[in-house]
Amino acid sequence: MSVPFRQSDLDAYLDEALPAEEMGRLEKALRDDAELMGRLQTIHGRRNAGVHSLGAIWRRRRLSCPSREQLGSYLLGAVPDDVAAYIAFHVEMVGCRYCQANLSDLQGREAESQEAVQNRRQRYFQSSAGYLRRAP
Ligand SMILES: [Zn+2]
Repeated sequence: MSVPFRQSDLDAYLDEALPAEEMGRLEKALRDDAELMGRLQTIHGRRNAGVHSLGAIWRRRRLSCPSREQLGSYLLGAVPDDVAAYIAFHVEMVGCRYCQANLSDLQGREAESQEAVQNRRQRYFQSSAGYLRRAP
């Protein structure tokens, strides 16, 4: 018997804030669990009626997400320990897909800029090497 889904899981599902793995597990369960589907529809209906749990509002507005600047500093190891711990928890444990995407984008940019620096160094080296060779 698998772990039953909680109300907060269903909320997160509707916000697409569940980790991908859980998302898949829930979708699979929904296919043959009419009771679960009923619960999901109830939440969905309540949302459309404007009744939101505080958790849903937080997730929706991403109030718990660190800013992009914070994520960038986190990658550089330039945030205080408690902030780093919060971000690690948020991204790895909560599995916030928004922040995961943001982080991998930032990582990609950083790798890119490091490559650019390397290329520039190499060009500089090659041009000075060429200059040296040509020098009498
Ligand atoms: Zn987030």
